Amino acid sequence: MPILMYHSVAHAPNEATHELSVSPDAFALQMEVLAERGFTPLTTAGLAAAWRSGRPLPERPVLVTFDDGYEGVHRYALPVLAKHGFASTLFVSTGWLRGAHDTGGALDFMLDWDQVRELAAAGAEIGGHSHTHPELDQLPGAELRHELRRCRDIVADELGARPLSFAYPYGYSDRRVRARVREAGFAQALAVGNSLARRGQGPYALRRVTVRRATGAEEFERLVEGRAVARVFARDRALTKGYAMVRRARQIRRKAMRTRV
Ligand SMILES: [Zn+2]
Repeated sequence: MPILMYHSVAHAPNEATHELSVSPDAFALQMEVLAERGFTPLTTAGLAAAWRSGRPLPERPVLVTFDDGYEGVHRYALPVLAKHGFASTLFVSTGWLRGAHDTGGALDFMLDWDQVRELAAAGAEIGGHSHTHPELDQLPGAELRHELRRCRDIVADELGARPLSFAYPYGYSDRRVRARVREAGFAQALAVGNSLARRGQGPYALRRVTVRRATGAEEFERLVEGRAVARVFARDRALTKGYAMVRRARQIRRKAMRTRV
């Protein structure tokens, strides 16, 4: 089943968020496509619970997810979701949202907690996405734990319930990160992967497909129908590979520096 990953929904996103943003019009059209084709959006926790218990899923299940917590999710996506009665999941980086816990560093104008509560009241599940959006697999143990617990506790304080689902910033996780996410009380977590999600991927590595500014109507239909996902994302994989090489080089440099010290 397709798990769609959105970021910002905006008419004029800034440069940092542009590529992974969608326009409000494109988002409305995409939700129209889901409705026309008989898809039923679930929350992440709803999907995981059904998979765990063996309860049957609706005919054409899909997940609509938003990462980071951009303000446009409230302004533009919420009315569209409400019109269709669609469930969704918003994964918040708690230190990026406007208000008491703001650590700075957000890429664009973010939601405040009243808006997050309105989204929750309208049927969006609020999940965790770390506190300051670091690459979790690069963090030492204490910092990793802090990122997860701080995020969990702030969401619990602000919404009155602990978050159940998590999304890895940049999609990065390894065995250690997944174990810490489980220990922090999250029951399931989403990666990136750019393929359809399957139960066999396990609850802590469910894959999502990226919807971006350049995703045209036809490509969107192919994505949700699970056709040609591999081809659409061949370019992404090349990019990811390139980035992984940069990261490796950086790690080697860091190690070398440490040995020198
Ligand atoms: Zn993110």
